[in-house]
Amino acid sequence: MTTENRFQIAAQELAKRFAPRAAEWDKSREYCWPNMAELAEAGLMGMTIPKAYGGQGASFHDAVLAIEEIAKACTLSARIVVEANMGGISAIMAYGSDAQKRLCAPLVLAGDKPAICISEPEAGSAATEMATTARRVGSGYLLNGTKHWITGGGVSKIHLIFARVLDERGQEEGIGGFLVICDPVKGDIPKGFEVVRREHTMGLCGMPEAELRFTDLEVEAEMAVVPPSGFARGFADLMNAYNSQRVGAGTIAMGVAAGALDRAKDYLNDRHQFGRPLAEFQGLQWMVADMDAGVHASRLMLREAALSRGPNGSPFPDMMMAARAKLFASETAIKVVNDALQMFGARGYGDQEPLERMYRDVRMFTIGGGTAQILRTQVAGSLLGIKTPQTRGGYVPEAPRIAAE
Ligand SMILES: Cc1cc2nc3c(=O)[nH]c(=O)nc-3n(C[C@H](O)[C@H](O)[C@H](O)COP(=O)(O)OP(=O)(O)OC[C@H]3O[C@@H](n4cnc5c(N)ncnc54)[C@H](O)[C@@H]3O)c2cc1C
Repeated sequence: MTTENRFQIAAQELAKRFAPRAAEWDKSREYCWPNMAELAEAGLMGMTIPKAYGGQGASFHDAVLAIEEIAKACTLSARIVVEANMGGISAIMAYGSDAQKRLCAPLVLAGDKPAICISEPEAGSAATEMATTARRVGSGYLLNGTKHWITGGGVSKIHLIFARVLDERGQEEGIGGFLVICDPVKGDIPKGFEVVRREHTMGLCGMPEAELRFTDLEVEAEMAVVPPSGFARGFADLMNAYNSQRVGAGTIAMGVAAGALDRAKDYLNDRHQFGRPLAEFQGLQWMVADMDAGVHASRLMLREAALSRGPNGSPFPDMMMAARAKLFASETAIKVVNDALQMFGARGYGDQEPLERMYRDVRMFTIGGGTAQILRTQVAGSLLGIKTPQTRGGYVPEAPRIAAE
């Protein structure tokens, strides 16, 4: 595939430096601050931010080329690249005011990974059942609620918080996004904003996944991210931006799988048993062929999704293509990394090789950012022309709650 471009080349260079340090972040569970600085210096943080706001105006396709390379070396850093170019920051760049864009762009370009705050203890897949509210009071809003599993919670400065918007009388207007910018690392957080706890995860260990609590948190009205359609359709528009995040997340999974496959190919040629290289055993050859087919198909689907656009002039990837690509890539990646680990025998199970870490890391991608089941429901809903509550963009406040099946 002759797709090399400058973002991909920059990512390949960085990946060489990141690979030897990837185990460090896994063991220490520390955030990879030095990598963020290098990513920012190489122009991979905020590359998709428009030039008018200091970015490079790169496409989502450029971004996925870079993300794949970084993911082969360090899953953690690849997640940072996704969130600095897709998802939350894309929503802000598409729907935010000029002032919001001027506020957020420099932070991302300097290395901040925005946190997108949707999930709650009682509202995971059923995101539209969120209980967090933003009630209009005077010139602003008061936010109340709890968000959990927030990637970067406690280290990110930009927070895009999703909440049910209530007018002064308490009437619901829809779901909106609210920007809160603070610096939890330096303890510079507003009154009513609390980082409650950090989860202990099986993989992606250097990335904080945190619970955040808001208690009468004051947010100025200017910090509401309101798509042109207003709050009533706001959630649908904001979730369209999330389609880009899904393509990015799927690309990380595919990149990890591609990295595992590269390692497996080398090992099969190096390791000898029964007087022959492992590569000569047909049982393993067929596994390699299947792994390659899975990675290649994932890559094509993800790149196609990155280039796609949803209906009605959406600046974001098509929902169905994004869901299908993330679903296929995430499930394929788990199998590919597992097969690569198998080929390494005991070495694969130990921490001399990175495969056990890659396996723990990649396991997340059928869960976070839309589970495999929800993605299947979305794809099927789209194919069959059925509107389901799981089609997050399909939410309207007055819609009756329909049973999942
Ligand atoms: C590492 C990680 C990072 C995350 N980062 C963020 C973040 O930055 N911001 C954020 O807002 N959230 C984040 N999340 C949360 C993530 O989006 C949710 O975990 C996900 O949406 C699923 O919600 P849940 O975990 O509550 O599972 P549930 O919704 O409770 O689902 C449990 C199981 O039931 C299945 N299920 C649920 N409904 C249906 C249905 N209708 N049909 C069939 N099966 C169904 C699910 O697929 C799953 O297998 C993160 C999660 C992880 C693991």
